[in-house]
Amino acid sequence: MDKQQELVDKYPELFEHAWPSVSDGWLPLLDTLCRVIKHHVKWQEKKGVTIVGDGEEPPEEGEWMDRFFFSQIKEKFGGLRVYSYGADDYIRGLTDFVEAMSYHTCEECGNAGLIRQTKWIKTLCDSCFSDWENIRQAKWDSNRERFLKENENKKKEYYEIRSLYEQVISRINKLDEDTKEAKGSLNMLVLDRFLEDITKLVGE
Ligand SMILES: [Zn+2]
Repeated sequence: MDKQQELVDKYPELFEHAWPSVSDGWLPLLDTLCRVIKHHVKWQEKKGVTIVGDGEEPPEEGEWMDRFFFSQIKEKFGGLRVYSYGADDYIRGLTDFVEAMSYHTCEECGNAGLIRQTKWIKTLCDSCFSDWENIRQAKWDSNRERFLKENENKKKEYYEIRSLYEQVISRINKLDEDTKEAKGSLNMLVLDRFLEDITKLVGE
């Protein structure tokens, strides 16, 4: 299991709406951020304080806004950017601090890093910077492999549904005209459902 997935599993409520789309070296920063945010949110709740960000209406009782979650986590211009819902000043301070730390932390391995000019701007240590082309290539290969595998599964599902669909059609065609009309309308509901599923799978 990859380390991003481990972090998401550790704080599922914080990552319900966002994936930590950064490399492994920054995950300890995110882990610490999550731990401190969780602690803060819990204490605020104990004090009966609902955390509400600037410009946000206080939530009605039981509404989704009564808790904090990330909306996007990514690398931008060499920094770790964390966007969220329901952040107060304290959480915003933490996120700013973590972003500032990220400009001195190698995104790949977590050692002390600097902003470097590769094809894009990246924060890397000396060693990852000198090896950057290989690291980049390895990432590209593993992403490509994952993509192909997902695509393969998608295709398999599509052909299974497709074959079921063809079986139903061929059964309808074998019926005599009167029965076909009666049974056909019933089967049309099933067919509609198949078509919906197929359309979803091929993403059209
Ligand atoms: Zn490094």
